[in-house]
Amino acid sequence: MTKTGNEIRESFLKYFEGKGHTLVTSSSLIPKDDPTLLFTNAGMVQFKNSFLGLENRGYTRAASCQKCARAGGKHNDLENVGVTARHHTFFEMLGNFSFGDYFKEEAIAWAWEYLIDVAKLPKEKLWITIFQDDNEAFEIWNKKMKVPHDRIVRMGEKSNFWMMGETGPCGPCSEILYDQGKDTGCRRPQCDVHCDCDRHLEIWNLVFTQFDRDESGKLTPLPKPNIDTGMGLERLTAVIQSKKSNYDTDLFTPIIRFVEKTAGIAYGKNADNDISIRVIADHSRAITFLIGDGITPSNEGRGYVLRRILRRAARHGKLLGINKPFLNQSAQVVIDMMKGVYPDLAEKASFITKMILNEEQRFMETLDAGLRILNEETAALKKAKQSILPGALVFKLYDTYGFPADLTADIVRHDGFTLDSDGFEAEMEQQRERARGAWKGSGEEAIADCYLKASSMGVISEFCGYEGTNKSDAKVLAIFVDGNPADSVREGQKAEIVLDTTPFYGESGGQTGDTGYLEGTGFNFKIEDTKRPIDKFIVHKGSVLKGEIKAGVKAQLIVDEERRKAIAANHSGTHILQAALKAVLGDHIKQSGSLVNALRLRFDFTHFAKISDEELKRVETIANDMIRKNVPVKTEIYALEDALKTGATAVFDEKYGATVRIVKMGEMSMELCGGTHVKQTGDIGLLKVVHESAIAAGVRRIEAVTGREALTHVQKAEEELKKAAGLFKANPLEVFDRTENILKQTRELEKEIETLKGKLAARDSGDLMNQAHVIGGVKVLAAQVSIADVKTLRDFGDKLRDKLESGIILLGSKAGEKAMLLCMVTKDLAAKYHAGNIIKELAPLIGGSGGGRPDMAQAGGTQPENLSEAIAYFEKLMAK
Ligand SMILES: [Zn+2]
Ligand SMILES: [Zn+2]
Repeated sequence: MTKTGNEIRESFLKYFEGKGHTLVTSSSLIPKDDPTLLFTNAGMVQFKNSFLGLENRGYTRAASCQKCARAGGKHNDLENVGVTARHHTFFEMLGNFSFGDYFKEEAIAWAWEYLIDVAKLPKEKLWITIFQDDNEAFEIWNKKMKVPHDRIVRMGEKSNFWMMGETGPCGPCSEILYDQGKDTGCRRPQCDVHCDCDRHLEIWNLVFTQFDRDESGKLTPLPKPNIDTGMGLERLTAVIQSKKSNYDTDLFTPIIRFVEKTAGIAYGKNADNDISIRVIADHSRAITFLIGDGITPSNEGRGYVLRRILRRAARHGKLLGINKPFLNQSAQVVIDMMKGVYPDLAEKASFITKMILNEEQRFMETLDAGLRILNEETAALKKAKQSILPGALVFKLYDTYGFPADLTADIVRHDGFTLDSDGFEAEMEQQRERARGAWKGSGEEAIADCYLKASSMGVISEFCGYEGTNKSDAKVLAIFVDGNPADSVREGQKAEIVLDTTPFYGESGGQTGDTGYLEGTGFNFKIEDTKRPIDKFIVHKGSVLKGEIKAGVKAQLIVDEERRKAIAANHSGTHILQAALKAVLGDHIKQSGSLVNALRLRFDFTHFAKISDEELKRVETIANDMIRKNVPVKTEIYALEDALKTGATAVFDEKYGATVRIVKMGEMSMELCGGTHVKQTGDIGLLKVVHESAIAAGVRRIEAVTGREALTHVQKAEEELKKAAGLFKANPLEVFDRTENILKQTRELEKEIETLKGKLAARDSGDLMNQAHVIGGVKVLAAQVSIADVKTLRDFGDKLRDKLESGIILLGSKAGEKAMLLCMVTKDLAAKYHAGNIIKELAPLIGGSGGGRPDMAQAGGTQPENLSEAIAYFEKLMAK
C-alpha cells in the first residue's frame, strides 16, 4: 500500500525517535534570533545556537519536520514555481541532528536504513555523492552499507562541502539521489548523476560538520562534530508514491481538486491552465502558513513577500476564469489537510481566511483596471517594435494598482516582454526618498557588533525586577562608550552599562525601558533608558553624574518607582483591553502590535470592520468591570509547549524561548508575557480609551490611558465642557442642546441674509438701469457697486442682463483690500464681443488677472483704488 504524505512524515519522525532522538516541533517561519534571514529555510535554523555550542537544550539528538519558506530576496525563484515539478514557496523539511553526539557512521547507516527498510525504496535506484576528499564517508558507504563503488560519486567543494559562513563550522556533505529512470529528464543516452536535468533527484543531504575554518582558510577538526541533515518531504513523497511531480502527490491533490472545481477546468488538459493550477496549489499552502505564523500583507519585508505570493495566485485564478475571491477557501482546504500536524492552523483558521479574503478583495478592486492599462501599453509597445516595459509604467502599476513588479513580469513574459528593472528601481528609490521622513523600519535592527562580541565572551545579565525595583551588590560586567567597549567611564560622559543582575526592565515586547539611578562608592550614574539589544543581557543607557565607574565594581540599582508603576498599570491595562475586545468583537482579535509607556498604552489588533461607538463603549465598560473586580495578577513559568496547551493568548510572531511566563488575571485574561505588571487589577484605577482608528487593511489601533493619566484626561475633558457651558451660562449637561440650538439659529440667519441680499440687489439693479447708455450702437452699463462676495455679484449681474435684454455689462466691486470685475455680454452680441477677452484686457489695471467665457467673465485684483479707472477704460474700449 502506498503511504500518504502524512504517513511518510510520521514514519520519519518515528524512526528517529526510535534511535534516541527528541522530536522537536517545527519552529515559526519567522526565524527567532536572526534578523538577517527572511524566512526559516532549513531544519537546522532553530538549532543554530546548539550547533555553535551556545545553547544547551538538554538533548543531543533531535529530529524535526520543519516548515520552510523560500520566496524572498533578489534571486528568488518565484517565477519557477508552478512551471516546474519541484519548486515551492512553502515546503516541509525532514531532518535529524546530532549536537556533538553521534557522527558520520550512524548518520549514514540510519539514512540508508530508513530509505531501504522503512520507505522501501529500491537500492538499485539510489546513488550516493560524497565530497572528493572524504574517504571516511566512502568507506562507510562502500564497506558497511555495501553500496557498489561505482554508485558512489566524488564531487567538488561547490556541491558537497558546507560552510556556515566565511569562517566557523563547516564540513563535507553526502547526498542520496534517486534515479527516476531514463524516460525522465533530458533523455540523453549519456545522462548521469552529474547531469543538471530532473532525472537524478537529490532527496537527502547529510552534512558532517567536523571542522572549524579560520580566516586563513585552515581547517581545524572540531572536538565535538555535528550532524545536520535535510530531506524535502514533498520530494520524498513523490518518489515513494512513484509520481513524476510533487504536485501529483496527496500533499497537493486536494488543493488541485478544489481549484478544478472552482474554475470548472480539469487539470492535465492544457499546459497553461496546469501552470496556473499548480501556482495556486503551491501559493495556497504558503499564504496559509505565512499568515498562520503572524505575517500580514504589507509593503515591506516579509509582509510584502506574502502580498506578492497572494496576488500572484489571485491573478492566476483570474487566468482560469475565477472572478471572485477564492484563495480564502483554498486556504481552508490547506488547513483541513494540515491541521492534524499543525494544530495551531485550526485555531487560527477564521483569522487566516478572513485576512486572505480581505487582501483578495482589495486586489480585485484594482486588478482589472491595472490589467487594462498593461494591455494597452503592451499593444502600443508591440506596434513600436519594443520589448522592454518602461520602469515608470512598472512603477505606476505597482504604486497605483498594487501589482508587484514580479507579477507584472509574470503577466508580460508570455508576450516576450521584459521589465526595465533599473528604471523601476530608480522610481522606487525616488519614492523612498519622498517617504523617508515618515519611513518606519520593520523594527528589526541589526545587532551592534559590540553587543555580539560581549555576548560571545559570556556577558549575561539576570533580570530581578519582577520582585522589586531595588538591587544592591550588582556587578558591572561591561561598559560601552559610543558603541565600543570601555574599561571605565567618567563624570559627564555618556555610556551603556551591563550588570550581572538588574531590576531595570529592558525595552521589549512593546514595554518601554525603566529609568532611575546606578550608585556606588564615589559614583552616580543616571539611567535614562534601558534596552535589551540581545536576548542575553540588559543595557542601561545614561550619563555619569559624579565620579568614575570601572568595569568590575559593585553598584546599587534604583528604578524610578512611580514611573514603573504607571508603566505596569498600562501594561496590565493592555491585557485587560485585549480580553475585553475579544469579549465584544470576537475571538479573531489578535495583537499585531503594542506599545506601553508611562503615559499611555497603544494596542494594534486585527479586526475587519469599523468599531462602532457603542462597541467601543462596551469594551471600555467590560475592561473597567474587570479592573474593579480587583483580582490578583499571577505569574507562572511554563515550558512553551505546555503554555500553549493552556490556551493562553500568545502573540503570533513573538519569538518565544523554551520557557515562557504566563500572566493571569482571574478568569478573564491569560497571556504569555515577560512584562512587569500591577499586583491587583484594581491598581490600574481607571482605563479610558482616548482614540480608535484604522492603521492598515484589517488592522485597528486603540489608544488608552490608565490611573492618574486617565483621571487627568477626564478632568481636561470636563474642563473644556465647563468652559463651553460658561459661555452659555448653562449646566455642562445642557451644552449639547444649547449648541444644537445655536447652530440651527445660525443656519436660519444665514438663509435670511441670503434672501435680503437678493432683495437689495433687485432694488439696486432698478436704480442702476438708469445708468445704461448707448456707445457705438450697443447698450452699455458700467458701474461700481458695493457687493462683497462673488456669488452675489454674479446673481446681481444676471438680473441686470435680463433687464437689459441686449448689451454689455461691466461691474466693479471692492471687497476689503481686493477688487473684482465682472463682465457680461448678452447672447445676441456674442459674435462681436467676448467677455473673457474684455476682462483679460482690464484685469491688469486692478493689479490682477482673470478670464472666462464669451458671455461671462470675471477678474480679481489687489488694487481696488483703480476700479474707476478700469471702468473708464472699458467705456473707451467700447467707443473704439
Ligand atoms: Zn539528464
Ligand atoms: Zn504583556
